[in-house]
Amino acid sequence: MVRAIVGANWGDEGKGKITDMLAKESDIIIRFQGGSNAGHTIINNYGKFALHLLPSGVFYQHTTSIIGNGVALNIPFLKEEIEELTKKGVPAPKILVSDRAQIMMPYHILFDTYEEARLAGKSFGSTKSGIAPFYSDKYAKIGFQVSELFGDEKELMEKVENVCTLKNVMLEHLYHQPLLDPKEVFQTLMEYKEIVEPYVCDVSKYLDEAIKEGKNILLEGQLGSLKDPDHGIYPMVTSSSTLAAYGAIGAGIPPYEIKNITAVVKAYSSAVGAGAFVSEIFGEEADELRKRGGDGGEFGATTGRPRRMGWFDAVATRYGCRVQGATEVVLTVLDVLGYLEELPICVGYEIDGKVTKDFPTTHLLEKAKPVYKKLPGWKCDIRGIRNYEELPENCKKYIEAIEEEIGVPVTMVSNGPGRDEIIIRK
Ligand code: GDP
Repeated sequence: MVRAIVGANWGDEGKGKITDMLAKESDIIIRFQGGSNAGHTIINNYGKFALHLLPSGVFYQHTTSIIGNGVALNIPFLKEEIEELTKKGVPAPKILVSDRAQIMMPYHILFDTYEEARLAGKSFGSTKSGIAPFYSDKYAKIGFQVSELFGDEKELMEKVENVCTLKNVMLEHLYHQPLLDPKEVFQTLMEYKEIVEPYVCDVSKYLDEAIKEGKNILLEGQLGSLKDPDHGIYPMVTSSSTLAAYGAIGAGIPPYEIKNITAVVKAYSSAVGAGAFVSEIFGEEADELRKRGGDGGEFGATTGRPRRMGWFDAVATRYGCRVQGATEVVLTVLDVLGYLEELPICVGYEIDGKVTKDFPTTHLLEKAKPVYKKLPGWKCDIRGIRNYEELPENCKKYIEAIEEEIGVPVTMVSNGPGRDEIIIRK
């Protein structure tokens, strides 16, 4: 059975924790999109980890962790991340890398940095991990696929020269930066070949067999629905699809094999980077929630930058669940909200004097004002509760109000960052 774990908001919903938790009963966990630009924070018996590239299943010895073809593969980063795990006492995980994954090159990171600097105040808030230049090159057909490292070297060198010719025009005339040397780029590719060789696999074939054998497979998404390049808040989005549907492509499996789509939804809102954020809060109210949020505050796992904070947005989340095709929802970080007297839920957007429950395209979203419904707080700590019925009445009302607004069953409630801090709802 294939199950996708994806974000229905702006990312940072706690997918890492849920994947790590569900990985216990899984055989294979696959990353199918994105790169090392976002991080999953995981707390387990080995300590606290921020995984950026590896799937959140690497902590179990019975699982195989896969980097699918849809991922932006930063090879030195992969090496570092594996070393970091083993250094902290995690047994060496079984890792496979798709032979069709494309390689994040050092110049992608440079181009990302140069472009952010060029855009200055109008930048997209990129993490400067090279993601946009990487996917641009992939679709412009000038990216390097892992398989190419193992092909004809002369052909590879010719391609490197062509890519450098293109890149150097931009470097010289737009960014006024040092040019690429084709020999150096080729050398880098050869170094990457050596690092990645032990992991390379025909992943699509491997998964075809695994599906036939009835293995439990998890697709682990990065970021969330609203960062999807097609269905998100374009252009303030990421450069690869964050939707479960893309899991089929980014892993190389048939779409109809994805039987369960678990959308991870946060009990309040947080976002990084620029872009419209209708239920955003500011000042002390935001600082308080940011300080209490997640595990040790809402700060980026990759960049450390403070996340933007807001109340639960039912309009965005319902849409986020719809475009994911969510079959169930896990509501996370609910424990954080125990300090509030009352909890606003954004149940509508007012745009040009009209209230709508439909999530609009970006130019309208920028005009939207939140319409709130307020629910009473529960004013206590719910960590440690394992049984839904034992939750305070007002807490259950908050969960049920969210469930009603988004129209997808909330099957699990996460009330702490740890693996076992979960309430399974009957
Ligand atoms: P991801 O990218 O979706 O995996 O999310 P992040 O790891 O960036 O952010 C989620 C943060 O919330 C991490 O620090 C988690 O340890 C933490 N977290 C996850 N679930 C819960 C929860 O139920 N309660 C609390 N307090 N923290 C949680």
